[in-house]
Amino acid sequence: MTNINKSSTRSRRAEVAGGGFAGLTAAIALRQNGWDVRLHERSNELRAFGAGIYLWHNGLRVLEGVGALNEVLEGSHTPPTYETWMHNKSVSKETFKGLPWRVMTRSHLHNALVNRAKAVGVEIAVNSEAVAADPAGRLTLQTGEVIEADLIVGADGVGSKVRDSIGFQQERWGSKDGIIRLIVPRKKAELGHGEWDNTIDMWNFWPRVQRILYSPCNENELYLGLMAPSDDPRGSRVPLDLEVWVEMFPFLEPCLVEAAKLQSARYDRYETTKLDRWTAGKVALVGDAAHAMCPALAQGAGCAMVNAFSLAQDVAAEGSVEDALLAWERRIRPITDRTQQISADYAANRSLSKGNMFTPEALEAARYDPINRVYSWPQ
Ligand SMILES: Cc1cc2nc3c(=O)[nH]c(=O)nc-3n(C[C@H](O)[C@H](O)[C@H](O)COP(=O)(O)OP(=O)(O)OC[C@H]3O[C@@H](n4cnc5c(N)ncnc54)[C@H](O)[C@@H]3O)c2cc1C
Repeated sequence: MTNINKSSTRSRRAEVAGGGFAGLTAAIALRQNGWDVRLHERSNELRAFGAGIYLWHNGLRVLEGVGALNEVLEGSHTPPTYETWMHNKSVSKETFKGLPWRVMTRSHLHNALVNRAKAVGVEIAVNSEAVAADPAGRLTLQTGEVIEADLIVGADGVGSKVRDSIGFQQERWGSKDGIIRLIVPRKKAELGHGEWDNTIDMWNFWPRVQRILYSPCNENELYLGLMAPSDDPRGSRVPLDLEVWVEMFPFLEPCLVEAAKLQSARYDRYETTKLDRWTAGKVALVGDAAHAMCPALAQGAGCAMVNAFSLAQDVAAEGSVEDALLAWERRIRPITDRTQQISADYAANRSLSKGNMFTPEALEAARYDPINRVYSWPQ
């Protein structure tokens, strides 16, 4: 059964599909610019998937712009340095010339955005799956309901139904490596001598390719990313093959023992999605729906949030939404495209293992300030 709800008031209405970092940011920013906004999440509650996350200057500026920064800063951590090890020896320590960055649990970031969305009056519909959209400004839900709006935002992740229903041309591919992401207790006192407040990117190429990205999120929580090639049955095994990880990283045993207890652990490969365009009429795609990228530069969510925030800026003026969306894509997309390309190259060549790889080009997205629309940090 199909019924159509037409907007009865003159205020502009946006329907946002997807309650991840991209959808929440778009919803809050649009609402702050005077739109009536409803956010549809297919799950039965709004919750974050995954373990930890890095945000850089660009993402932190978005949080400031949407009024969620203070809540995020409390309970997250900026490590003194980003250290890279090869075969358990330090090869570089990067501090990014003071460029702000932050590590946190995903649930911490997500909760702050959900709280802010509720505070500004975003209408939230859970158990509400979008199955299609059309450029004229209609969103179809799994129930058969069709909603008309002035703007449809497809923020429904890498498997986006909004995107696929419209038929954007796309290239998609998966990485050769994958990662097991976990949050475990810090166990700092049990780790022995060391600078355990740092991020430490621990690479090993021999006798097997195994990497641990060690990332403290706060005093109590540690984010571990355990990377191994997808054709390595032991490195990619979940729950964790404790022996194979402790053999390579014995000094992390107290944390790895905790990690091995987590039955819900998943091994995920990274996906890259590249589209011919991000908009069609009144429909805009944001986040992984538009530009899923390898996590080498930790910018997938950062770019998603910048693009969602910038979208709300560009449709703020009266006038054609279609034209504003085209201008938005022209303005903001090149930074994401370049970042996605560098991330893909770094992941394919395992380049971060060399150390000192956060070059000015690699930090381009991080240096962008979406509020003032400038690169606000020196190279
Ligand atoms: C290993 C790894 C590490 C990463 N580390 C970082 C990092 O440190 N920093 C960083 O910036 N980025 C990082 N990223 C990238 C980042 O996780 C993603 O880019 C970001 O989460 C994308 O957010 P999103 O809102 O677009 O999509 P998602 O997080 O996938 O959210 C989509 C939401 O939409 C919902 N949904 C799906 N389909 C529908 C539908 N049809 N209707 C309604 N709702 C729907 C889902 O349930 C979900 O809530 C990493 C990625 C990986 C794989």
